[in-house]
Amino acid sequence: MSIEDARTRPAVLLNPLEGDPTDADSHIGGPLLWPIDEPWPWCDGETHQPGSGGEPFVGAVQLYRSDFPELPFPEGTDVLQVFLCTLHHDVPHARGPAVRLVWRDSTTVVELIEEEPQPSAQVEAYVPTVNVLEPIRYAERESKASGGTKIGGWTAWRQSAPVEFPCPDCGAAQRQTLSLATHEPSGDDVEWEFGRGGNLNVFTCPADVRHPISAHVG
Ligand SMILES: [Zn+2]
Ligand SMILES: [Zn+2]
Repeated sequence: MSIEDARTRPAVLLNPLEGDPTDADSHIGGPLLWPIDEPWPWCDGETHQPGSGGEPFVGAVQLYRSDFPELPFPEGTDVLQVFLCTLHHDVPHARGPAVRLVWRDSTTVVELIEEEPQPSAQVEAYVPTVNVLEPIRYAERESKASGGTKIGGWTAWRQSAPVEFPCPDCGAAQRQTLSLATHEPSGDDVEWEFGRGGNLNVFTCPADVRHPISAHVG
């Protein structure tokens, strides 16, 4: 591998556009494929600022393998569901919403949840508008990391020095898998805001994406 290759990673800009997706689509802010017999993700509220008790997570992003084969889907799964707890969380590197990932096998979902639980309170800045995705694939150079919503690629360190996240389970250096942006290159913003016009970056373990994740706001 040349030095040039080492500085280049595949990336996919999700390129959100206002739309009307279903649970069978990849999207931001639309309905999730969630089975009626599985508990909805819940934030225990331990790091809420100020302490305000537990709240349900909010379905933020859904990405099907058929649309985004670049994502590191564990064997037997074909959809990634990204949840945010849309309250302020007071944690190092990630003052903002809490993040949870669910890797699911869509073929096992028979009956859908009737209504997604709604938090009793939300920070408006963390609530997405409803968008379909028009992905743009490219090779991203480290020196030109896009600040748009994307999978793969490099972290755009804008508001902090680079941070390394070792996996809490196995110690491997976690890698940025998903970045959610305040500002899209297209100008069609999702109307959420992380930090001061920054990004919510999600890091996963290269050995096993189901190991604990790290989040970074900057
Ligand atoms: Zn929370
Ligand atoms: Zn790990």
